[in-house]
Amino acid sequence: MNCAEESSGEWEVVIGLEVHAQIISDSKLFSFASTKFGVSPNENVSFVDAALPGTLPVINSFCIDQAVKTGLGLNGTVNPVSSFDRKNYFYADLPQGYQISQFYHPIISGGYVDIEDANGGKKRINIDHIHLEQDAGKSIHDQSPAKSFIDLNRSGIALMEIVTKPDMRSAEEVAAFLRKLRSILRYLKTCDGNMDEGSMRADLNISLHRPGTEFGTRTEVKNVNSIKFLTTAVNFEIERQREILESGREIDQETRLFDSATGKTRCMRSKEDAHDYRYFPEPDLPPLILEQSRVDAIRKTIPELPDAKSERLQREYGLPRYDACLIASQKEVADFYEKALDSAGKGADFAKLLSNWITVELFSLFNRYGKTVEESRISPEDMGELAVLIKTDVISGKTAKEVLEFMWKTQKSPSRIVAEKGWEQITSSASIEAALKEVLDEHSDKVAEYKNGKTKLFGFFIGQAMKKTEGKANAQILNDLLRKIIDA
Ligand code: ADP
Ligand code: MG
Repeated sequence: MNCAEESSGEWEVVIGLEVHAQIISDSKLFSFASTKFGVSPNENVSFVDAALPGTLPVINSFCIDQAVKTGLGLNGTVNPVSSFDRKNYFYADLPQGYQISQFYHPIISGGYVDIEDANGGKKRINIDHIHLEQDAGKSIHDQSPAKSFIDLNRSGIALMEIVTKPDMRSAEEVAAFLRKLRSILRYLKTCDGNMDEGSMRADLNISLHRPGTEFGTRTEVKNVNSIKFLTTAVNFEIERQREILESGREIDQETRLFDSATGKTRCMRSKEDAHDYRYFPEPDLPPLILEQSRVDAIRKTIPELPDAKSERLQREYGLPRYDACLIASQKEVADFYEKALDSAGKGADFAKLLSNWITVELFSLFNRYGKTVEESRISPEDMGELAVLIKTDVISGKTAKEVLEFMWKTQKSPSRIVAEKGWEQITSSASIEAALKEVLDEHSDKVAEYKNGKTKLFGFFIGQAMKKTEGKANAQILNDLLRKIIDA
């Protein structure tokens, strides 16, 4: 039983998503206009995007390849024949009066994404299909009190709509699904997954029903553009629907809007049905035919994806599952990690050590300086070298943290920093023993107390000896020596 079911008593929650993923492509789906983000309004508009009479759409074959790649990466079937349809509706930011989409024959059928469920097991979220469509323009209502403006830069940009089966059961599963999907799309380089820029957004379909009965009536929450908002929207809808159902009323099948300021959803319109759009085949475009050889060539360009990579990291290096998933979730991190491992000399010896140093210490530097792994001021090779210095006891873990800070600031290699600062650990038993003897001589009273049973003074002696060696004594050797001397 998952959290959502618990909090909503005997109701089971059912969720399906329609994810709009903007295709990475320099030009639009049916025109040569640029897709560049952040330019002035209406800068990227061709006659086709503005729907001037007499213009005709021409399919962008790169966008098709990208959709095929996505379908293969998500374990779907590429349909050898698909086609385009017109979805008719009026809106000021839709100059054509229809959106070119794929309604009857989508480019990809089926597929799945595996996520981790609440108990750490594997749960499969099935994909119904992926279809291509063009994005609409944008209406701007907040620039003038009396006027609305239209920006057509987005008009005609290629979208993939990834429609899942109603397989999710909680907000946590929705979040896990979207994270995994985003990770795969980024690996494939078919969508940048930046939800805050709107290049990935999701419609949430959600219903409640009594376990063992048929699915309930769903509501659809439109265009939610962050994982956090989706989680909030799911939980809000669960509560709202539960209250309605428990008071004996029925859920209206409607389209709702999420308000990120209040965390609530509100009714936008009663749900439209497919027939309201008067779908019909797009007469200006021929069917899209994909030869097997083209699909095979695209298949060859698919990199090792996160699940396969995570399994390999566990198998090859004995990396714990949690570490492996974390590292594999981002291709650039995984590449960095494996390069660092390589330069440390590979082998399981360094796997966990480097995983810790990268995902904890290095990530915290990225956070502090607002950098991504691609912008790291520390190279994977230097990271590998640092791991060797730690593993071979040249420096302690504590010193290594300071070395890492200097590596970031100076971009010098760790060995050079350690040499320049004279930070090598003291591993010679003789010198450590000499320091210890001094400490014990200076505190003969405490030694006596220790021998009378005040054993927690052990830490005090260690601390004093560390101070004497300026923190450079190897902790293990120091510990062993003290035990030998004082417990003798
Ligand atoms: P439409 O085309 O009218 O939007 P679909 O049947 O294609 O409807 O489903 C759209 C989305 O709604 C899919 O993600 C699907 O998984 C989800 N869905 C369908 N039925 C339910 C339900 N009863 N509860 C929650 N989600 C549902
Ligand atoms: Mg829909």
